[in-house]
Amino acid sequence: VPHADFLIEHADLIATCAGPAPRTGAAQRDISTLRDGAIASNQGTIVYVGPTASLAAVDIDRRATRVDASGCTVVPGFVDPHTHVVYAGNRHGELQERLAGATYAQIASRGGGILQTVTATRAATDQELFESARGRLDAMLACGTTTCEIKSGYGLTTESELRQLRVIRRLNDEHAIDVVPTFLGAHEVPEEYRIRPDDYVALVVNEMIPRVAAERLAEWCDVFCEEGAFALQESVDILTMGSRAGLKPRMHANELGPSGGAHVAVKVNARSADHLLFVDEADADALARARVTAVLLPVAALYLKAGRFAPARLLIDRDVPVALGTDMNPGAGLSPSMPFAMTLACFGMNMTLEESLIAATLNAAWSLDRSDSVGSLEPGKQMDAVVIQGDLVDLLRVGPSHIRNVIKRGRIVS
Ligand SMILES: [Zn+2]
Repeated sequence: VPHADFLIEHADLIATCAGPAPRTGAAQRDISTLRDGAIASNQGTIVYVGPTASLAAVDIDRRATRVDASGCTVVPGFVDPHTHVVYAGNRHGELQERLAGATYAQIASRGGGILQTVTATRAATDQELFESARGRLDAMLACGTTTCEIKSGYGLTTESELRQLRVIRRLNDEHAIDVVPTFLGAHEVPEEYRIRPDDYVALVVNEMIPRVAAERLAEWCDVFCEEGAFALQESVDILTMGSRAGLKPRMHANELGPSGGAHVAVKVNARSADHLLFVDEADADALARARVTAVLLPVAALYLKAGRFAPARLLIDRDVPVALGTDMNPGAGLSPSMPFAMTLACFGMNMTLEESLIAATLNAAWSLDRSDSVGSLEPGKQMDAVVIQGDLVDLLRVGPSHIRNVIKRGRIVS
């Protein structure tokens, strides 16, 4: 009989999302529901998922925390697989310019965009970077995120990239959210390398990647592959060298145009290709064959006024595993909320509610290589859960949150 020190019981509905990862095609709708359900855990690990009526099968500690979830729906803690939350300053002026009609390229060509954040981030202290990012993680946690990825990429010198990654490591150590670190030295070519961009690629490959790997500061290597940022061959070179150093590849692809980045993801065997606003049937088939996760970021598309969202329906119908992220960042990632990303997925990208839930949990976990421990509610995985007051649909309301509790490793953290 398993022992338990934490218990959720009498949930109207539990969407466990249990089963194999990643979910593709029709299986992306399979959220495995259970009525009048209970979940028990011990020391942060789930030991029981089943009917409340069968809890006699669990030895519940007298001092166990018990959550009565009558009238509630319980889902796995959300996994946000794409964020840039370690930065200084803000880009509110740029946002106003965009509202007045300026494009991403126009803003970038005036020294705005990423480079503006690079200047502010280089000037900030470690403590300032840590504290501002911690506040953003608090907001994400309140919205139900219990695991997230964070990228570097606002330093763009070896020392400042390493510094950002050390802040990310400290966030993982001190915050309730589990943080997965990604090195994104190839986010943008910094001002001082604009006339010799090849030298910057060489710096990323020959100096930054070996240092990041030697200090074990990142698990993944990412590249912003786009016209005006990093070219196809540069992206292949950087991600290949990253792989050799032990940094697994993921990437920004096909966000601003049909750049060919999706095929780089296939070529280097990336775990994810993110954004994908401009992909067609052939791209989707190639991604599906290589089992590359499409990490879709509709919040960014909205705030960038991209005029479109990624073709989620096409990607799911062609068996690409689809995940969702917030892309929280100072330029266009203005929401910490995975439920808001799900709302846009449902009402802007024609995904079903069930597909969007799998995208925000199990498939996102798979895209970060964490689906063995998080992303669904099943014995052996972490007790990371969100208790929603009401139905699953109540997650999609914009306004006062219907999230009643957030649970991380068997503790109520929000
Ligand atoms: Zn991004």
